[in-house]
Amino acid sequence: MSQETIQTQVAVIGGGPGGYPAAFHAADLGLEVTMIDEGAKPGGVCLFRGCIPSKALLHAAGVVHHARDAEQFGVSFGDPEIDIQKLASWKGSVVKKLTDGLAFLAKKRKVNFVQGRAVLDGPGSATVETQNGPVKVEFEKAILATGSSPVVLPFLPKSSRVMDSTAALELSDLPSKLLVIGGGYIGLELGHVYASIGSRVTVVEMLSELIPGADQDLVKVLQKNLKGEFDQIRLKTKATKVEEVSDGLKVAFEDENGKTSEETFDKILVAVGRKPNTKDIGLENTSIEVDKKGFIVSDEQRRTSEPNIYAIGDAAGEPMLAHKATYEGKIAAEACAGKKSAYDAQAVPAVIFTDPEIAWCGMSQAEAESKGIEVKVCPFPWAASGRSLTLGRKDGLTKLIFEKESGRLLGGGLVGHGAGELIGELVHAIEMGSTATDLAWSIHPHPTLSETIMEAAEMFEGKATSFFK
Ligand code: FAD
Ligand code: NAD
Repeated sequence: MSQETIQTQVAVIGGGPGGYPAAFHAADLGLEVTMIDEGAKPGGVCLFRGCIPSKALLHAAGVVHHARDAEQFGVSFGDPEIDIQKLASWKGSVVKKLTDGLAFLAKKRKVNFVQGRAVLDGPGSATVETQNGPVKVEFEKAILATGSSPVVLPFLPKSSRVMDSTAALELSDLPSKLLVIGGGYIGLELGHVYASIGSRVTVVEMLSELIPGADQDLVKVLQKNLKGEFDQIRLKTKATKVEEVSDGLKVAFEDENGKTSEETFDKILVAVGRKPNTKDIGLENTSIEVDKKGFIVSDEQRRTSEPNIYAIGDAAGEPMLAHKATYEGKIAAEACAGKKSAYDAQAVPAVIFTDPEIAWCGMSQAEAESKGIEVKVCPFPWAASGRSLTLGRKDGLTKLIFEKESGRLLGGGLVGHGAGELIGELVHAIEMGSTATDLAWSIHPHPTLSETIMEAAEMFEGKATSFFK
């Protein structure tokens, strides 16, 4: 039987938030596109086992917290009853709606979707292992968007009690004692979910701070809340050995001074980072290079060392975030269509959807200082925000970093209720070259949390209307 061959102008390998926007945009620009993914529908990690299912569960966690917080102003609902099967099935229905929508949008745009695993044969073709046997896809251009996978710790036993983020999102049962290894994005978001629905959660982080690398003035505010929510937060501590015993997993810990301890948990969630999916995709059959961490090396158009092949998203470097993948996907599609578009984002937002949320973008205070840029740091505490108090919340901080001489906004962050919805204003302000005056003299609606940005910008001149230091 002869092997089926498909010829296409653009092959997009991977249908996540990098790959599907790249495929859609290339099709909108008039190119003939084939999108290949191992899954039955486009969506990738983000829609099937990442951003979307985790945010659905985080919404449920938020409802539990809001109900509890309401007691302070006299509204009581009693203890929540959590039907985890119903919660898991609601989360699944959200994923299905969105991924069905993507399959529909691909069809409408006449993007040819091939389900199977693709391996590059060389710079002009890939072989896809489909359910009906191998299919050869010959392309003029290709966009690699193969994403990333969880880092695995070698000393963990193979056991259903050891979960990665995918298993944790399945919500197959509710462990009464959960250990989360890693105090980064996933550890804190999913730790918060499990703590909210009834698990006793311990987070162990090997470095000296949670969310290492993020502005600790912001993290401190979140950490205060998490301290009340989690059983333990153990910093500068490593899990060194895990043994499956009759009633769970016995874990050995070692702190920075070499002091050891042991504790037994029902389950472990491992969230110690992700690695790019760039092995076993046939890069060795091309001249494409990867860096020390395994990310594909590309230029500002996301073109690799093979001039007709582009790389985007988690496979192409940090930050490993969906919106960065999408932006790169659109750049690569435009480059495939012969446009001169290039990656020139001044600010990539990051949001961790805990309670409170934490979000930041652009240059941090530490980064500006390390570059020798003289900055003026303008913090505005949410305890002085009318809107925050009407929400029953005193915790929160907006912190803006301005270039001292010009007053231009270089970066900023927020921690507080809904911070993730507010960070877009800072991204836009940085992209537009806005100054403290622009932000302070833009009328923000009252009473809203967005006023904290205006008031932090007022601090550039020394004083904000609602805050006096
Ligand atoms: P992916 O989404 O990883 O998609 C790659 C696709 O390629 C997959 O479908 C894979 O099956 C397919 N593939 C791989 N190799 C092949 C091959 N050889 N042939 C065919 N197909 C292949 N980011 C955010 O911005 N916000 C969030 O709230 C957020 N939450 C997250 C929560 C969790 C639990 C996790 C794990 C991640 C989260 N992320 C979040 C990160 C986000 O999911 C990734 O940054 C994003 O999915 C990367 O997109 P991508 O297109 O590069 O790759
Ligand atoms: P992460 O890099 O955010 O955090 C991993 C943490 O584990 C780090 O703090 C690290 O110091 C710690 N660590 C590593 N090895 C350890 C060990 N042996 N013992 C204890 N701690 C250890 O990684 P993640 O949480 O796995 O998430 C992966 C990526 O997925 C993120 O970096 C982010 O790009 C993406 N993501 C984004 C979102 C979002 O945007 N809201 C949510 C989830 C995931």
